[in-house]
Amino acid sequence: MLLVCSRRCGGDLFRELFAEVEVDSAGQYQDHRVAQPGYVCLNCGAPALDLAAVPAELEAEAREEEAATFTPSDVLCPVCETMVRLDANLECPHCGSPLTV
Ligand SMILES: [Zn+2]
Ligand SMILES: [Zn+2]
Repeated sequence: MLLVCSRRCGGDLFRELFAEVEVDSAGQYQDHRVAQPGYVCLNCGAPALDLAAVPAELEAEAREEEAATFTPSDVLCPVCETMVRLDANLECPHCGSPLTV
């Protein structure tokens, strides 16, 4: 996580807006968890952005796209009559014949 003020005011303290605080029987703070990401800059009150979360989200999207574009499929090689997994070379890994989908 890398929070920055969206106004770049230089503040380095932020408040979690949707945190649930766990307390003991005396009401003493024990722990908390973030119910929903949301932060404001304590210095100027502007919303804060998590710089670390943005690339991770983009990366996950890119990985999903990659998986969607390349789907390996099993085909029957007409030459050696083996079920082979079609790879990017479009060649039979057993006999080297060119394969068509
Ligand atoms: Zn600020
Ligand atoms: Zn083959």
